[in-house]
Amino acid sequence: GTMQNITDRKTIENRLVELSQTDELTRIYNRRYLLASLREAIEKYGTHTNDSDSAVLALLDLDNFKAINDQYGHEAGDHVLQKLSKFLTEFVRSSDVVARTGGEEFVILMHNTNLHHALPPLENMLDGIRQLEFQFANQPLSISATIGVTEIQPEDNDTSDVLVRADRALYHGKNYGRDQIVTWDAIKKS
Ligand code: GH3
Ligand code: MG
Ligand code: MG
Repeated sequence: GTMQNITDRKTIENRLVELSQTDELTRIYNRRYLLASLREAIEKYGTHTNDSDSAVLALLDLDNFKAINDQYGHEAGDHVLQKLSKFLTEFVRSSDVVARTGGEEFVILMHNTNLHHALPPLENMLDGIRQLEFQFANQPLSISATIGVTEIQPEDNDTSDVLVRADRALYHGKNYGRDQIVTWDAIKKS
C-alpha cells in the first residue's frame, strides 16, 4: 500500500544520503562529508571568544605508504587503509568526525575542544597507529603517520583557510622526519 511505498522511499533516500557521505573502500566518511562538517564548524566557531570551545582539525597522512603497495601489492595497501580506518573511528570520541579525504590521507575534526586539549589524545592516536600489527608475505609490518594540526580561528571564512594551515604543518612534519604531530602554531613564523 501507500504506507509501504513511503517507507521504501525513505529507506532508499536514507541509503542515498549514506552513500553520498561514505568512502567506498573504508566505509568511513568521505571528503564531501568532512567539508560540510568543517563548514559548519567554521560558522559555529567563527564568532567564538572563548578558547575552550573551538574545534581542531588534524590532517593525517600515512608515511611511506607507496612502499607498502610496491612491496606487498595494492590489496595489502587497501587492507592497511581499512584497518587504520577502523582503528581511527574506534579511537576518537563520538562527537569527532573521521574521514578519508584522499588516497592515504585522513582528517579528524574534533569539536568542542582546543589545541591544548586535543594534542594528548592525538599523540596517543599516533602511538596506537605505531602499534597496529600487519603481516604480509609472512613479514611483520608496522606503519606510522604524520599529522598536521590547526585550531579553527574566528577569522576563518572557508574550509581551505583551515586545510591550508593543516597541510603546511603536515608538510613540515614530512620534511622533518615523519611519524610526528606538527601544529600550525609551531611553524607559522617559519
Ligand atoms: P609520504 O610519507 O611522503 O606521505 O610518502 P607516501 O609514499 O605515503 O606518499 P606518496 O604520495 O608518494 O604515495 C601515496 C601512495 O598511496 C601512492 C598511491 O598508490 C597510494 N594510494 C592512494 N590511494 C590508494 C588506495 O586506495 N589503495 C592503495 N592500496 N593505495 C593507494
Ligand atoms: Mg598523501
Ligand atoms: Mg603518505
